[in-house]
Amino acid sequence: MAVSRSRTAVYARRRKRRMAQHTHDLSDEQWAALAAEWQGCAYCGASDRPLQRDCVQPISRGGRYTLANVVPACGSCNASKSNDEVTSWLRRKQLDERAFLLRHREIGVALALRFPAPDAASD
Ligand SMILES: [Zn+2]
Repeated sequence: MAVSRSRTAVYARRRKRRMAQHTHDLSDEQWAALAAEWQGCAYCGASDRPLQRDCVQPISRGGRYTLANVVPACGSCNASKSNDEVTSWLRRKQLDERAFLLRHREIGVALALRFPAPDAASD
């Protein structure tokens, strides 16, 4: 298989590699803890459907799959939010932006204590 050396291809490969690493930042244990804390979709509260890992700050905006940046979201919220900035999306959807931010912060603090970062300097 020929390896493309074009700039676009190089960037695409770098992004793929970065994404592959980031996908593994959140452990299954951390995900289970997040789901248990939120007890439903972090945005609309739905608890009667499967939840997906949503990056509060989208990957396209520098977000990563980390304990601090992932929340459980129902398929509908996840698809609707897509790459939008979270607070403007919440406002547009007339969801409770303030309640989400407070809860996100509380849960973030609680879980950061339970799962101390192994390497705070890593990026
Ligand atoms: Zn939802």
